[in-house]
Amino acid sequence: MEDINKIYGLYIHIPFCDHICAYCDFTKMIANDDKKEKYISSLIKEAKYKANNFKDLKSIYIGGGTPSSLSFDLLERLLNELSKLINLSNIQEFTFEANPNDINDDNIDNWIDLFNKYHINRISLGIQSFNNKKLIFLRRNHNKKIAIHALDLLHNHHFNNVNCDLIYGLYQDKYINILKDMKIAIKHHVKHISYYSLILEEKTILYDLFKKGQILEMDGDKESKYYYKIVKFLSKHHFNQYEISNFSKDGYQSYHNLLTWNNMHYAAIGISASSYIDNIRSTNTNKINDYINLINENRFDEIIKEKNVLSKDDIIYEALILGLRKKEGINLNEFKERYNEDLLVYYKNINNLIKDNILEIKDGNLRILCDKIYLENAIINKIID
Ligand code: SF4
Repeated sequence: MEDINKIYGLYIHIPFCDHICAYCDFTKMIANDDKKEKYISSLIKEAKYKANNFKDLKSIYIGGGTPSSLSFDLLERLLNELSKLINLSNIQEFTFEANPNDINDDNIDNWIDLFNKYHINRISLGIQSFNNKKLIFLRRNHNKKIAIHALDLLHNHHFNNVNCDLIYGLYQDKYINILKDMKIAIKHHVKHISYYSLILEEKTILYDLFKKGQILEMDGDKESKYYYKIVKFLSKHHFNQYEISNFSKDGYQSYHNLLTWNNMHYAAIGISASSYIDNIRSTNTNKINDYINLINENRFDEIIKEKNVLSKDDIIYEALILGLRKKEGINLNEFKERYNEDLLVYYKNINNLIKDNILEIKDGNLRILCDKIYLENAIINKIID
């Protein structure tokens, strides 16, 4: 069993993109080379400052933004500095997020060399769909052909641990198109699929269009119907659902994601990156100039924008909402050992929800019944009511 006091995960945020997608509310920006260079220098300084958190790491996740939009020189500089702080050959899972159009015939050898040199063993590709109309609607800057080619290039170079992010739930989505997306992903060897429903987040292009009445939201019933069809289809093709939106072939579950859902501690660097260490959740500023300037002046503590010291109630609540996202749920004995509380006594409503066939206890785990997992938020509200 893993030590709950150790920090096994590190998240690194690269906020740069070549292009802004219509649905995106992540911390991202289009920047010039000078800004990118200054950011990477600051990131390296932050990594050095926090290096004492890295001694037990088992997972690194470089996400964004679009990490693959950085030049090879800047990436090499970042990775080389990380390799001086962390024994990368000991890292169990090292994920790198990439956009399909950044992986092509001209640079695949460079990518593979870089991945091998720094022990990057998992790629997460932001594909979202293989349907060109949908990609245009989402304002992605790749098309079906480019996405398939990126998957094939990785596969042909024996890079097998590939996740593909997909989106459903656009108003105009038809299940036949969702089915085609899944079939293409499977045919082109992905081992992990993160399938998210589209959320119209404020301050996005799609949200503005929605507010102006130019696009509609998908009806909730239809969305949940599609969701269960996705789960059924992927399960038939040996993609085991292990979390509400995540599916993998055997042996390809994301360790990094599981750290979060198991409420384990992790470190994070970069703008807007959130860490969870010693029961404190901290989030860095999302303002890149503040970040660069403060780090230049060695004012590391001031880059933190938000800091929450969790109470015991908070910790247990978070363990509940994160743990019930997993299909296997929460192991009740481990919960008791870790938090010194009996979950069924702590939240008495759980017993009623078990009677109502919404929750169940299976093999010592409390979990949401498979056909209700889509309703996790509503179920949590009932538990804490
Ligand atoms: S979805 Fe990804 S590629 Fe698109 S703007 Fe957001 S971070 Fe950048």
